Amino acid sequence: MGRNIDSKCSQCRRSGEKLFLKGERCTTPKCAITKRNYAPGFHGPKGHKRLSDYGSQLAEKQKAKKFYGLLEKQFRLTLEKASKKQGDAGKNFLRALEMRLDNVVYRLGWATSRAAARQLVNHGHFTINDRKTDIPSCAVKLGQVIKVRKSSAKMPYFKKATEGLKKADRPSWLNFDDKDLSAKILHEPKDTDLPQNINVQVIIEYYSK
Ligand code: SF4
Repeated sequence: MGRNIDSKCSQCRRSGEKLFLKGERCTTPKCAITKRNYAPGFHGPKGHKRLSDYGSQLAEKQKAKKFYGLLEKQFRLTLEKASKKQGDAGKNFLRALEMRLDNVVYRLGWATSRAAARQLVNHGHFTINDRKTDIPSCAVKLGQVIKVRKSSAKMPYFKKATEGLKKADRPSWLNFDDKDLSAKILHEPKDTDLPQNINVQVIIEYYSK
């Protein structure tokens, strides 16, 4: 499987904004966007080029892909599926990305980045409606309950993460029960729950060429 080998901070600097790819470091003064908010490369801060319409569309698409940590094929297929559903294709697309299991684990606060959340899911630490699920792209549905497996909950990682979970700022569509550390999908993400930093119409224009 292909993967993006660009450093995480370089990906943010190229996008010109924080994409929160490195967990806790992203909220500290060590964040590369805080220190050097310009594209990486030999020319430094003055090396910024004006982008054509196509360049801007491409940059927006790349930014969203990096934000959710998806590769091209998966990203494009998610958009194609969303476009076939009734309603606004852009919002359907962002909703589908938000409702991936890895993103839900991240939004719940079990991991400090989507990459870390994907790894936790891959390693089989979560269940959906009591069934072990290790597919990060799995789409969660209304009413489903996501939970850490009993055997995993005893691991030092999850014991430590539980402390942070109680303080985590969660979207309203996820109802977290801090007694049994489970979360129920109450409804699909509302428009206000969708990321506001992604111009999805520009991405749709990019793929419609
Ligand atoms: Fe991006 Fe995080 Fe690196 Fe900052 S620390 S540049 S938000 S990956």
